[in-house]
Amino acid sequence: MKTIGLIGGMSWESSIEYYRLINELAKARLGGLHSAKCVMYSVDFAEIETLQHQERWQEASLILIDAAQAIERAGADFVVLCTNTMHKLADEIQANLQIPFLHIADATAQRIQAARIDTIGLLGTRYTMEQDFYRGRLEQHGIKVLVPDAADRAIVHDVIYSELCLGIIQPDSRSRYLAIIDRLISAGAEGIILGCTEIELLIQPEDCEMTLFPTTRIHAEAAIDWALANA
Ligand code: GLU
Repeated sequence: MKTIGLIGGMSWESSIEYYRLINELAKARLGGLHSAKCVMYSVDFAEIETLQHQERWQEASLILIDAAQAIERAGADFVVLCTNTMHKLADEIQANLQIPFLHIADATAQRIQAARIDTIGLLGTRYTMEQDFYRGRLEQHGIKVLVPDAADRAIVHDVIYSELCLGIIQPDSRSRYLAIIDRLISAGAEGIILGCTEIELLIQPEDCEMTLFPTTRIHAEAAIDWALANA
């Protein structure tokens, strides 16, 4: 088994899900006492969130490159960045590494294609929903991406930062998300990407009849696939 390098802390509420999932998956695939070989570098999310908010992406990239290189020195065979939003900096991180970078949008696009879905609804931070780094990557795979309108995007974004990243799970917010998902379905979405690694803490498959693409689970599964396939 190869060693998975995780850049976590964005937020740690979802990083622990990555840790749990890769270990559960290693146990399910290999049995017995097997667990995932991994290294995690966890950043201080308050520093990252300030840089995001002030659009100081270059400074954020220096922090994440530093984390990725520390993981590489620690013996990881590839890097998993445990957040959708910071994939805005994926190219800069990969350019400063010798080892591969497992892109969350590529792993998600493969699942969407396997489900034969052409038009997908995307929920995430406003950076993920509004900027090209994520939508464009999905579109390169031939997938049409729908996002909520401005008012709904503000709700989705605010719940992520003021609740989910703080470990707060509110039934009211779940209801608001489900109403937003319904509006995306009415607009033509055939499935929904939970494109922020904390959203699956709020929305579970049983909450919604629509096909969901939970990116933390998908990314963790892709990491275990890679770690075992390249062993
Ligand atoms: N974890 C979230 C994501 O997947 C948001 C936190 C962040 O901005 O990194 O986008």
